[in-house]
Amino acid sequence: MVFALFVVRFFARRAKKRTTDDKYLLPQAEQPYQTFATAIIALPRASHLAQSPLLDRLLIAPGSPGTAEVGHNVPVSVDSHELLLDIARREHIGLVVIGPEAPLAAGLTDLLTDAGILVFGPSASAAQIESSKIFAKQIMDQAGIPCAQAHAFDDQAAAINFARISNMPWVVKADGLAAGKGVIVAESVEQTIAAIVQLMATHAGQRVLLEQRLVGEEVSVLALCDGTTLLPLPPARDHKRLRDGDIGPNTGGMGAYAPADLDAETFTHIVDHLMLPAVRAMTANNQPFRGALYAGVMLTEHGPRILEFNARFGDPETQVIMPLLEGDLLAALLACAEGRLQPDMLRWSAGSAACVVLASAGYPEAPRAGDVISGVESAAEEPAVLLFHAGTDWADGALVTAGGRVLCVTGLGNTRRAALARAYEVVENISFDGMQYRRDIGRS
Ligand code: ATP
Repeated sequence: MVFALFVVRFFARRAKKRTTDDKYLLPQAEQPYQTFATAIIALPRASHLAQSPLLDRLLIAPGSPGTAEVGHNVPVSVDSHELLLDIARREHIGLVVIGPEAPLAAGLTDLLTDAGILVFGPSASAAQIESSKIFAKQIMDQAGIPCAQAHAFDDQAAAINFARISNMPWVVKADGLAAGKGVIVAESVEQTIAAIVQLMATHAGQRVLLEQRLVGEEVSVLALCDGTTLLPLPPARDHKRLRDGDIGPNTGGMGAYAPADLDAETFTHIVDHLMLPAVRAMTANNQPFRGALYAGVMLTEHGPRILEFNARFGDPETQVIMPLLEGDLLAALLACAEGRLQPDMLRWSAGSAACVVLASAGYPEAPRAGDVISGVESAAEEPAVLLFHAGTDWADGALVTAGGRVLCVTGLGNTRRAALARAYEVVENISFDGMQYRRDIGRS
């Protein structure tokens, strides 16, 4: 059987200047993209997929300079569902792994599944756990999952009135997908009102949630899920703010490490009492969740509380979790898609991984593209280091920035300290104009 996967961002030890495989190029007229779209998708560790004895071929849509090293890039946007279905059929694809949230929310899984193709990634209905924060709250209410108290509004005047009467600041959240820009943690009633106005002016914010502000350390717990069984991955911690000391705007994540400091009891509590009840409720509602379930958790003084669920592997956490994997990831993803996941299918190394994100000038508000990146070739040869291409492209034979988060450098070591040291050693050798990164990953 042929196994191939459509995904977007992978790591490569050496990014070659070959970015597409002609064999998979469509006739010019049918090509929605002449070059690759900026990578917008998070993805698991490609080498584990590529090394799986089950794998015959790996196709990646649309791919990046990094992914060309581990598979065949196919220049098709993840929004071109019919084209992807066509290729999946034509190439006898055994499993499609969907990385980003947008095609999940838009029903790519449903389209492929209806055509008899196996998919790792939830249906549009189940993906609402991420694509609608109000839906996620309803599931949490139904299942009795501890989370912040919240109130939903689709009327701006009513939301503002509620904020005034309550006379306290709220965390304001756009209901829909907002690529990391949909949450504002207000410090005052005035800021709450300004956040309501700001978010309700966006497409994702037609409905908003006003959520009680929680305090505590954050941790991310990801688990594979086949609709019934959960296979938890090691916990990770990411750093969302742009600048050292956890200040500046929220980003998609500037760095992360795994495993995070979480005792076994709390970890088990999160999986059994915060994640599993959500999965059971969704199955009971006839919306079984098959894919990667990501729980953003705050460890409050009253116990762990869910901040958000995502319906996919999130970056940068996945870039530090997957390097710890010892086992056949593809076999586990396949088992999810076929509804036969076992909680002990994967093993994990006892070491540590830490990553530092290199972001472009202007990120997150207005990332600049086209800056020439140097030092990547030699960095990719370094031992105990993985280089993930997130927003890169080739232009006139040079590797250039092509997105907000450009590269992620993951270091590996026996301890977190050693992993961080490795990552930072390599970061020092990479450069591009306006490069931004945090110097305090794993320390703040
Ligand atoms: P988007 O929806 O725009 O993609 P997101 O999914 O990253 O954003 P969340 O993870 O829900 O949004 O929130 C982003 C950050 O905001 C969290 O990591 C946390 O630091 C903070 N946050 C969210 N909810 C709360 C809360 N109830 N109390 C305190 N802080 C919160």
